[in-house]
Amino acid sequence: MIRVNENFAKLQSSYLFSEIAKRVKAYQAEHPDKRVIRLGIGDVTEPLPPACIEALHKAVDELASRATFRGYGPEQGYDFLREAIARNDFQSRGAAIEPDEVFVSDGAKCDTANIQELFAQKLTIAVPDPVYPVYVDTNVMAGRTGTCTKGRYKGLVYLECTEANGFVPALPEQPVDVIYLCFPNNPTGATATREQLAAWVRYARENRALILFDAAYEAFIRDPALPHSIYEIEGARDVAIEFRSYSKTAGFTGTRCAFTVVPKTLMGYTRKGESVPLHPLWNRRHTTKFNGVSYPVQRATEAVYSPAGKEQTRALVDFYLGNAALIRATLKELGFSLTGGDNSPYIWVNVGKDSWKFFDRLLKRAQVVTTPGAGFGRCGQGFIRISAFNSRENVEEAMRRLRKVL
Ligand SMILES: *Cc1c(COP(=O)(O)O)cnc(C)c1O
Repeated sequence: MIRVNENFAKLQSSYLFSEIAKRVKAYQAEHPDKRVIRLGIGDVTEPLPPACIEALHKAVDELASRATFRGYGPEQGYDFLREAIARNDFQSRGAAIEPDEVFVSDGAKCDTANIQELFAQKLTIAVPDPVYPVYVDTNVMAGRTGTCTKGRYKGLVYLECTEANGFVPALPEQPVDVIYLCFPNNPTGATATREQLAAWVRYARENRALILFDAAYEAFIRDPALPHSIYEIEGARDVAIEFRSYSKTAGFTGTRCAFTVVPKTLMGYTRKGESVPLHPLWNRRHTTKFNGVSYPVQRATEAVYSPAGKEQTRALVDFYLGNAALIRATLKELGFSLTGGDNSPYIWVNVGKDSWKFFDRLLKRAQVVTTPGAGFGRCGQGFIRISAFNSRENVEEAMRRLRKVL
């Protein structure tokens, strides 16, 4: 008898985006003449930087002749890319990361999920609230939680992110083994200072815990005082794994390229307390289960680090930050308290009432789609997330409409 993984039955979400889609569809069916503007999604809208397109074309042409054809590449990524990453993303910021500590992959989403394969089944997992749903749902699927009541799974430790703590959670009061952190944050847009990250690194070192640091929005940081990588914090190499992605940095959501850093000094522990380096485990997992990102895509990613690529990706991110600034200014003018949007593409707005009611109001009166904060966790109730991923024209029109109705 083929028994199923009954943990799937515990899953609550996918509710969020399917519920949004359902409400938008119902509204459009009743009002086919109204133009709906979507500021709900976390997907990019602008085309790839020209330097990436050029590198893609060139690499495709290489595949067309026997002399330059490439088949399977190294599973961990080509040296040309791992070296460019180590140099540009880490060493240039004083973070001692070597190319062979970088594992190129097809997504940070899957890496943040797959990393769990390195861990024992029984662990105490800490997740922020509100949270990127992937961290929670993949732990549920893996059987690391109990059932869900009132939006919270038994067995998980929720790190509350509120206006009072600036959406950077306090250290847990009980011991935890794995801690998910994401800065700049999705959904709140909050960032963490060097001191705040240092406190987490200290906690992890003292408790032999592991930090899973999601830096997918690192490229949106404009404040020079903010760290881009957790490895800019002393001692983080021994207690943290970092996830990066080109999805938001360079518009690669459909092109697919990301990477995960597992430092060689990072240890896990056996039941008896003996230390085991995690690097060889992830290397083994990655090479056994993954066959590498396609050659043209790795060349396109390498081009992100060329002088032209750097300039173009910065301009691309600046474009979205320009949208974010418009959204921030409008909502502030309308009297809302908000966070994010200055070093992040998301603006997290305190709407002072039920998230879904506010969502409906904006949909029906302004035809603007946002994301109800309650969908990201209990602490998201009373907030909405507005995304800066759209054309300038659409953002300007959406803000005109908000000014009218709010
Ligand atoms: C978009 C996003 C990612 C990127 O995922 P990919 O699979 O690389 O596209 C990772 N983490 C968060 C929090 C995100 O919002």
